[in-house]
Amino acid sequence: MGCAAAHTVAVSPIGNLQPELTAAVCGAVERIFNLPTAVLPLMDSVDFAFDHTREQYHSTLILEKLASLAPPEAFKVLALVGVDLFIPILTYVYGEAQLGGRACVVSVHRLDEGLATAVQKALLPARVAKEAAHELAHTFDLRHCKDPACIMHYCRSIRDVDRKSDRLCRYCRTLLNDELKRTGR
Ligand SMILES: [Zn+2]
Ligand SMILES: [Zn+2]
Repeated sequence: MGCAAAHTVAVSPIGNLQPELTAAVCGAVERIFNLPTAVLPLMDSVDFAFDHTREQYHSTLILEKLASLAPPEAFKVLALVGVDLFIPILTYVYGEAQLGGRACVVSVHRLDEGLATAVQKALLPARVAKEAAHELAHTFDLRHCKDPACIMHYCRSIRDVDRKSDRLCRYCRTLLNDELKRTGR
């Protein structure tokens, strides 16, 4: 990232992903967090996280690897993957984050659910951006929010993702601003 500022969020697409998705994520990070982004592919694949029994990818292992690969100048690192993610207690996850930490990951794998026509497919970048902002906010120590319109609302289904807005509620916004101030960014 060379000359990138110390508060840059490194957005790391892994594998074959549409560039529009990465662009949508960068846009959401810049708008919601008011932080600069840099696209930085940190690895070629997440095959190391594949679980042969579940035939899915263990997201916690991806987070550990991301944190170890992130350059010092990256404030946070947000990876985008195309594969199906899980954590042991859940069937699948849209993403995972290190709470109050540095790394988070989002999968586009299940976010295209119900998108068949071209018009519907245009919804995908917005869904990915919402879930990416959600995971990134966890790295700023934000927890889940009861407000169904808030980015920090926990989504059990794709309907929940579509129903929530692309912003933080006033309460979560205050928490994020305090955390950004506290970390001096
Ligand atoms: Zn969450
Ligand atoms: Zn909220």
